[in-house]
Amino acid sequence: MEKIDIKSMNLEELTEFMEGIGEKKFRAKQIYQWLHQKRVDSFEEMSNISKDLKHKLEEQTFITSLEKIDVQISKIDGTRKYLFALSDGNVIESVLMRYKHGNSVCISSQVGCRMGCKFCASTLDGLVRGLTPAEMMDQIYKIGKDIDERISNVVVMGTGEPMDNFDNLIKFITLLTDENGLNISQRNLTVSTCGLVPKMKQLADMKLQITLALSLHASNQEKRKTLMPVANSFDIHEVIDACKYYFEKTNRRVTFEYSLVGGVNDTDEDAKELTELVKGMNCHINLIPVNPIKERDFVQSNAKVISAFKNKLEKNGINVTIRREMGRDIDGACGQLRKKYIDRKETK
Ligand code: SF4
Repeated sequence: MEKIDIKSMNLEELTEFMEGIGEKKFRAKQIYQWLHQKRVDSFEEMSNISKDLKHKLEEQTFITSLEKIDVQISKIDGTRKYLFALSDGNVIESVLMRYKHGNSVCISSQVGCRMGCKFCASTLDGLVRGLTPAEMMDQIYKIGKDIDERISNVVVMGTGEPMDNFDNLIKFITLLTDENGLNISQRNLTVSTCGLVPKMKQLADMKLQITLALSLHASNQEKRKTLMPVANSFDIHEVIDACKYYFEKTNRRVTFEYSLVGGVNDTDEDAKELTELVKGMNCHINLIPVNPIKERDFVQSNAKVISAFKNKLEKNGINVTIRREMGRDIDGACGQLRKKYIDRKETK
């Protein structure tokens, strides 16, 4: 019999499961709280559960637990970059960022990614698999335990395209926001996407209060196609329309992520086109100085160009910020720590 992933179950499913094995309903809540509030990694630690029940659970289920294999800590701003091993030997990255308003964790949603964005190290070896809801949760649990502080914000912006792992993403949101678990408000969660239009609409129809962040990175369809293969499937206007739809359904302001690549998408013309594209929308543009990766030859726009680009957008009435580079002294761009680890292993 294949064992069940107990930490990926929501409270309703766990209750059904407990009743199915002849246990009282309230046991489900107790176990759920052990897993998601006290964040234990074994049934042994569940002190108010009988030996018999522990035995039953061990026989039929397993508790997902990530193993921390590396952590790099920035001397500049305290950002921590974690490398975790999954039970099948795959490795993933997560990042803790410390802000005045609290601790924010950026998690991965897949092992690798198949979206092929040209400026991204996470996609160089393709997609291995999607993460389970428990594997997404445990990145937050392990980091929270490691620093012994509360995590107040979560962004699903690490390795992977969250919408390409949609069902698990939705389950993850249920677990994350459950009052019997971490109880993080939907408003403190951001999910990014490279623009999978049907899934963006599906998410909009659920009317959750999470922030949607679109990786835009180009001001027109032609340029976007050269940077992001996903643009071959969905036209830039279709993607923008999906963002408008998201706002209509949820009343949540959409964020556009725009990585500035020197000489590629940082010209005056780009600023003009970008303005035209998002004009009239309730949105926010986050300019990201692109992190160079050795496998591609993109360079960061220089500081002057970045600030001129920002000024132009502002003059055009667009809400815009330059994303502060966190952990500049540790492997910056997402996917790089994992990539280095894999490359090192392969050359051994
Ligand atoms: S930027 Fe995101 S969607 Fe694009 S390849 Fe990288 S991980 Fe995948």
